[in-house]
Amino acid sequence: MTARPELELVEGFERALINHRLRMVYQPKVRLRDGALTRVEALVRWDDPQFGSVEPSRFVPLAEKHGLIEDLTQWGLRTTLRQWLKWREEGLDTCLAFNISALSLEQLDFPDLVERMCRALDVPTDRLVLELTESATQPLIKLMDTLTRFRIKGIGLAIDDFGTGYSSLMQLRQLPFTEVKIDRFFVSDAVNSQESRLIVRAIVDLAHGLGLTVTAEGVETREQLQSLSELGCDVAQGYLISQPLEPNALMAWKQEFRGRWPGLIEDEGLALWSYVEADSLRKR
Ligand code: C2E
Ligand code: CA
Ligand code: CA
Repeated sequence: MTARPELELVEGFERALINHRLRMVYQPKVRLRDGALTRVEALVRWDDPQFGSVEPSRFVPLAEKHGLIEDLTQWGLRTTLRQWLKWREEGLDTCLAFNISALSLEQLDFPDLVERMCRALDVPTDRLVLELTESATQPLIKLMDTLTRFRIKGIGLAIDDFGTGYSSLMQLRQLPFTEVKIDRFFVSDAVNSQESRLIVRAIVDLAHGLGLTVTAEGVETREQLQSLSELGCDVAQGYLISQPLEPNALMAWKQEFRGRWPGLIEDEGLALWSYVEADSLRKR
């Protein structure tokens, strides 16, 4: 992108932030054991009259680069915590997953700020999980102090996009994470590739050994859901389960999904296999 359009986009983003034209959508995550809703991930959306619908993968890095990430994080977190209160009033007490730029973690007082925001809105800190992605310039190990402070406050920490980029198995042991999110590359590859299955199995075994929850992200097909379930993942998230939803659509989705879940997890392959096996046993 040339300098001028980038600057125009940044200015447009700043205007949208100031004028409350950003919004949050929420993608459900479900437990593979029984299909229960475990939490929702907040994802920011920007629909602009001039630029159209701009993807977060485009504007979040720009916000980081141009000093706007803290404002985005604070707006997003406040919006998400307020939404949690509305859901709770409606009788839905779920957990929240919130994406944090590794840049925000460079401030040592950031955990205090997050805790104050939770307190001010009366949201228990154990309902919040922060999702972090490792990058070349911000190795998470350098942020150990800040990460530990979050854990002391009862806030959960998930390592996002695990298995690609810079994340390594070693970090799981060294850093105080509570959850690992397996990148969607492995989720789609696990159906056909023995190597990917081995990698997922290794991540799951190590994560479980360390007491962490494993989430498979980007689950789009029943085959993927079933293989990730067989590989021992605890939680699934992706378009098969639900697209990111407007806040007022969550209750209706929960109702609809309860009816849809048994058909998703029911293992036709396995059922067929046991039938064949029983048949061949009879022949013996
Ligand atoms: P992420 O945290 O890895 O979020 C998952 C992305 O995958 C989201 O894209 C989501 O809409 C998309 N997704 C979910 N299920 C599926 C699926 O089954 N298939 C496929 N192909 N995609 C799926 P989105 O909303 O465009 O966000 C992209 C990235 O932008 C996020 O990746 C996250 O790193 C960042 N981001 C989003 N919202 C925020 C935010 O509020 N703050 C910060 N700092 N970053 C954010
Ligand atoms: Ca995420
Ligand atoms: Ca991810």
